[in-house]
Amino acid sequence: MKYETVIGLEVHVQLNTKSKMFCSCSTKFGAEPNKNTCPICLGMPGVLPVINREAVNLTIKTALATDCKIAPFNRFARKNYFYPDLPKGYQISQYELPLAKGGHVEIVVDGNVKRIGITRIHMEEDAGKLIHGENLGDKDSSYIDINRSGIPLMEIVSEPDIRSPEEAKEYMTRLKAILEYIEVSDCNMEEGSLRCDANVSVRPVGSKTFGTKAEVKNMNSFRFLQKALEYEIKRQIDTLEEGGKIVQETRLFNPDKGITVSMRSKEEAHDYRYFPDPDLVPIEIDSKWIEDIRTTLPELPDAKRERFVKEYSLPEYDAEVLTTSKSIASYFEDCIKLYNQPPDSGIQGQAKVISNWVMGEVLRVLKDENLEIEKFSVTPLMLTEMLKLIDNGTISGKIAKTVFEEMYKTGKSPEDIVKEKGLVQITDESEVIKVIDEVIAENPKEVADYKGGKDKLITFFVGQVMKKSKGKANPQVVNKLLKERLGSV
Ligand code: ADP
Ligand code: MG
Ligand code: ZN
Repeated sequence: MKYETVIGLEVHVQLNTKSKMFCSCSTKFGAEPNKNTCPICLGMPGVLPVINREAVNLTIKTALATDCKIAPFNRFARKNYFYPDLPKGYQISQYELPLAKGGHVEIVVDGNVKRIGITRIHMEEDAGKLIHGENLGDKDSSYIDINRSGIPLMEIVSEPDIRSPEEAKEYMTRLKAILEYIEVSDCNMEEGSLRCDANVSVRPVGSKTFGTKAEVKNMNSFRFLQKALEYEIKRQIDTLEEGGKIVQETRLFNPDKGITVSMRSKEEAHDYRYFPDPDLVPIEIDSKWIEDIRTTLPELPDAKRERFVKEYSLPEYDAEVLTTSKSIASYFEDCIKLYNQPPDSGIQGQAKVISNWVMGEVLRVLKDENLEIEKFSVTPLMLTEMLKLIDNGTISGKIAKTVFEEMYKTGKSPEDIVKEKGLVQITDESEVIKVIDEVIAENPKEVADYKGGKDKLITFFVGQVMKKSKGKANPQVVNKLLKERLGSV
């Protein structure tokens, strides 16, 4: 039997606020355990929480960026459960009246745009963190760090519209890009600012009803998400094929083993005994509030991508890669402004030239060195100065790779590097001829074959000359002169 996968994601996003959701404690990551706490986030009896307006603003902004409808009246609810990292015995969340509903994020599947529906976006607070002693050489104890407790979160719940692990990754990528563009979160996945629970089920192809789902909790990397989904889909299909049944449950992904394991049977909403939080006022959001926030929205990734294709005649793929991150898009556009070759310069496709360098060398180094583009030593000015050195014939495209490498290692300007390393391209014909004659003298057999009709050997000779000149000979000059010299020997 053939199966179809159905996936819905619940994404938790840490909002970019200075203070917590209901108290004035700092949200700063990495503080000493239990430093960022007060009676409110410690859950002491009798304290009164106060809603962080900035957290509401950021959630409204997200709702606008994902085309959600914002509820004019929404409120917080208590989600009751016991866990040592939750001193109050309940989490403040939103339940029957979330801030926003019914939006979407667009992804591209096989070249076609597909909309993934957003069911709801609501605000909530994070819980604390348990640190188990075995990791600290103290296997009999567990420690509790309350710093995270009360950190403002937004939960973005998708419709079960996703059909494969690749689509799930694409959706997360797009959503993350949007959240970064609108600056509602730093989206640092390693620090837990962006994490997701994946709901997965399988059903026979053609079936109209969904299969029973399992929920895989708390994944904080794209790779884990994809691995966990792949494992989970196979597990469910294998179970069904063996005549078994899928039980609705919560599972955990073990990244070391690459498997998911059952954590607990799935709790139902009624288990939590949700009720409106009597300590907090409902939030009324009028159209003025919404419109004020709308004016703060920047150009979003989809719009930027379309503009890049139109304005710079870039291939769709380039525009996609360059706009995944706002800072990479600005780096690219800064280069465009600085490069600024006049249209009659005869230099074609300037934007594409820059795009090739940014998508190629720049992104490669950033990935290898695990660097943010803001901290990259090769500034747009340096990159475009280097491109101008290629354009005016000072260096070859091949040498440019060496110059680039030196630029990011030393932070020196391309001109200085070219001067210091003697990388200036050899265009002087007599110098090139000297090298060509050496190559001809050293390879009598190839010369004879070439003259016997093996025209393809020309690339061999070009290669030899480039090698001997350490890549500095101008390839056009080499080509032209080689043909002349070979014709006359
Ligand atoms: P629960 O109440 O169990 O948390 P929800 O209906 O709130 O379930 O849905 C939670 C998430 O699970 C949503 O992202 C939704 O799209 C997804 N989902 C719902 N049903 C299925 C299913 N059968 N298979 C996969 N995902 C599903
Ligand atoms: Mg759920
Ligand atoms: Zn506090």
